[in-house]
Parts: sequence; structure tokens; C-alpha cells
Amino acid sequence: MSAAAQDLNSPVHHFVDGKSFAGASTRFGDVLNPATGEVSKQVALASADDVRVAIASAQAAFPAWAATPPGKRAQVMFKYRELLLANMEELAVIVSSEHGKTIDDAKGSITRGLEVVEFTCGIPQMLKGEYSEAVATAVESYSMRQPLGVCAGITPFNFPAMVPMWMFPVAIACGNTFVLKPSEKDPSCSMRLAELMVEAGLPAGVLNVVNGDKEAVDTLLTDDRVQGVSFVGSTAIGQYIYETGCANGKRVQALCGAKNHMVVMPDADIDQAVDAVMGAAYGSAGERCMAVSVVVSVGDEAADQLIEKLAPRVKGLKVGPYTDPAAEMGPVITPESKARINGYIDSGVKAGAKLVVDGRDVTVAGHEGGCFVGGCIFDNVTKDMQIYTDEIFGPVLCIVRAKDYEEAIQLVNDHEYGNGTAIFTRDGDAARDFVGRVQIGMVGVNVPIPVPVAYHSFGGWKRSLFGDHSIHGPEGVRFYTRLKTVTTRWPSGIREGAVFNFKAGGEH
Ligand code: NAD
Repeated sequence: MSAAAQDLNSPVHHFVDGKSFAGASTRFGDVLNPATGEVSKQVALASADDVRVAIASAQAAFPAWAATPPGKRAQVMFKYRELLLANMEELAVIVSSEHGKTIDDAKGSITRGLEVVEFTCGIPQMLKGEYSEAVATAVESYSMRQPLGVCAGITPFNFPAMVPMWMFPVAIACGNTFVLKPSEKDPSCSMRLAELMVEAGLPAGVLNVVNGDKEAVDTLLTDDRVQGVSFVGSTAIGQYIYETGCANGKRVQALCGAKNHMVVMPDADIDQAVDAVMGAAYGSAGERCMAVSVVVSVGDEAADQLIEKLAPRVKGLKVGPYTDPAAEMGPVITPESKARINGYIDSGVKAGAKLVVDGRDVTVAGHEGGCFVGGCIFDNVTKDMQIYTDEIFGPVLCIVRAKDYEEAIQLVNDHEYGNGTAIFTRDGDAARDFVGRVQIGMVGVNVPIPVPVAYHSFGGWKRSLFGDHSIHGPEGVRFYTRLKTVTTRWPSGIREGAVFNFKAGGEH
């Protein structure tokens, strides 16, 4: 049986040195089925010593893997791609049973991860350096990108397949070895992803998975053998990861929380905007860092038209477990998460926003204990309200009415987060102005969730990203490699004698 396909009596352990590893920790966490609210299995919470075993395995595997030609590393990725496709159904069920999202949504997210693997199949092209002949007489200069060493990845619950695959395929294709610490809320998918890497031909120790919580993370952040840390999760934790990792001499990228605004201009195609909001605000129950959680309508007319068409569709959303193929939206991750989201909805009502659609009392027959929250719409939201300032991470949409375009763009730019945004308009001039001036990392024009494809890079601005590199694509390759520049002179018979002073460019 695969390490991922475990039953209740057998906890999810770790994956180290190419095989399952129980570790010595006696601490365990509960993994829930969010559709029932019941505990479905347990996950081992690694001790610092357990994590050190994984780091040692990655450290031992590094020299041989770094010396493996990039073309051979790519061959493993080609095979891995085939295995992901062959195991898509099983992976989707693993994701949905622990996260709660619908099977189609789970498959979509695995496919986005698979596209990163496809990008890494071309890694020799990405690792090509630059070469200059004759930088001086008989002197050449060239650059190369070399792997960092052992890298670590710390990932959130909301994309248990895609986010780990934003990281380890790129890191590994670049010649690094990797220790992945997935969310303890849905750990099984990472275990299966690692098993499949070994099946694809990856040497033992190149990819390891440790399950756990703060103790595991802190060990990764402070161990001298770890050179680079990629984090995706909430802003408070991401800032801690960034500061602690940097203080310990590591290269760190921390992709964090979001509050994504969609600006609807008076000339927008309202039907297109309504379709866009439905998927972007309520897909995956709003548990996406690129979810649209705020619509800024420019003028009252756009808001009125939007709400008139949106409200009946949100009321009619089919909420249900992943086992119901008709479900459009699954549960949120835990009872605590449901209580937190409902608390925000209460606070919005108290603050004076108009709750046009209320999803607080949704129940699903046969799944009364499930963590379901129905779709919600708030109108007349203002920028001082907590439902506007905070990331709710649930199916709650805030509509803010701006008097004009300038007020709309100011709102987007003033918000502390800068992950994604979109403008819906038919006016090319307005769109161009928006794209140029908006202080956000990923921008859509009539595209509500502008997630870059795998061969571009994903990342926000402001408090949505700490560090200098976005993830996957060319920025991912830059993050997981160091630049080395070499200057060579071969004996040519030309003698300069000893030189004690710097000379102008080109003279060495
Ligand atoms: P989280 O910050 O609670 O957890 C992320 C990871 O950090 C997990 O592996 C967790 O075990 C670990 N962690 C939690 N508390 C810790 C602590 N005190 N010390 C050390 N490590 C700790 O995030 P989450 O709830 O799993 O995920 C949701 C968040 O992730 C949202 O804020 C969402 O916007 C964000 N997210 C961002 C992106 C992006 O690309 N910007 C993508 C997906 C999710």
C-alpha cells in the first residue's frame, strides 16, 4: 500500500531517504474530513531530531545529484509527468478527502502543478549561462547557475498538490535536494507526490517529506545545512519565516496572504463580470490566495446591476461534499475556520455593511457536522471595516462602491496586500493606465484570477511576498541557483608582467 493510502489505524508518517520513515516523535495531529468534521486519520508531528534525519539524507544526496547533468535530471521530470497523469484520479481523491474541494477543482490544481513539472523538463535551457569571448586579449568570461544545496519548502493547506509542486520540481531540476514540510491539515498528498518522484527514478534522499508543525519548521529555519527556504502561507507566519530564515543566513522567499480587488468599470460587460466573480470568489470556497474577495464598482450603476445578477446565483450555489459530483463548492477546512469566517460575517453586519446573501446557516443533508459555509455577499462595504481590511479566506465577497476610477485604484494601492487584482472594462486606455499604476504583483484585464502560467513566475507585492523572488518559472530558477561568473586566460604567449592597479573595462 502506498504511504499516502493509509487507514485510520496507521498515521501519516514522513518520507525520508526514499522510503516511509516513522521518526521518534510521540506527538500526533488530527487530520479531518472537512465534509463531515470528523477525524479521518492522524499525522505524525516530527521532532527536531526527526527533521535532522531528513536534512542529513538531503545533505548526503546533494553532491551526486548536483553533479548529475541537467539533461538527466530532466529525464526524471519527463517520467514524473507521465506518472502524475497516470495517477491523477487517485491524487485528486487524496486532495479532496483532506482539503474538501471538489474533485474537478482538485484535478485543476494538480494540473497547474503538473505544468510546473513540464517547465522543468526544459531545465537545461534555463540553466544556460552567458559567455563573452575576448573580454580582454586572450581572456574569456562566462557565467553559470549552480544549485544552493539543501532547500526546504513549507506549504499551506489550501493547495496540497499545486503549491508543493511550485517548489520541489524546480529546486530539484536545478540540482538541489529538498525537504518538504506540508500543512499538517492535509499531509497525504505530499507523501504520494514524493513516492511518485522515486518511482520516476529520483535517487533516494533528493526529495524528503517531514510532517509536523512549528517544531519542524523552526528546525528547518535554524539548521545550518539548509541553504534556501520557500514558504507559502499566511502573512504573520510568512514574516516570521522570512525574518528567522534570513537571520540564520538562508535565502528565503515567503509568499503570503491576500485581499484581491476586482475593479468593475461602468462600461464593463456585466454578464462576463458576474461569471468571473462566481468562479473567482466562490471556487474552492474562497480558500485561494488569488480569490477575488473585493469587488470595487466604479459608480452605483455597475454595483446595482452586478448585485441584481449575482445574488440569485450565489443563493443557488450547490454546496456539498466532494463525493457529490453536482457540488460546486465544498466545505472550508476546519470547524475553527468556519467559526472564524462566520465571526467575520457577524462583524460585517455589526459594522453596518449590507448582507445581501447570508451563507451562515447552510447545512448539507447527511453532512450536518461538515464545515460548510454558503456564499455571502456584502454591499456598501467601507475601507475601515474588518471584513475589508482582513483576509477572510472563505466564500465572502465585499462590494465597495467607488465614486470614480481614481478612488478605485487608490483603494487597491492603499491595501496592505498586493497579490492579485483585475480590472473589468472595454476601455483600453483605462486598462493600460490600471496595469501601469497598480501596486500589485499579478494583474488581470478582464481575467479575474490572473495566475501566471508555469513558465512565468507567481508572486505578489507589499505584504503578500517577503523576499526578492517570485516562485516557479524563471524567478524560481533564479531563487534555487547561485550565479557564478568565471574569467579565464589560457597561455597565449602574451606577457603583461605584474599589474598592481585596476584598469578600465576589458583590460585584465
Ligand atoms: P499558515 O500560515 O497557517 O500555514 C502555512 C505553513 O506554516 C504550514 O505548513 C504550517 O504548518 C506552518 N506554520 C503554521 N504556524 C506556524 C508557526 N507558528 N511557526 C512556524 N510554522 C508555522 O497558512 P494556511 O492557513 O495553511 O494557508 C492559508 C494562507 O496561505 C492564506 O493566508 C493564503 O492567502 C496563503 N496562501 C498564499 C499563497 C500565495 O501564493 N501568496 C498561496 C496559497 C496560500
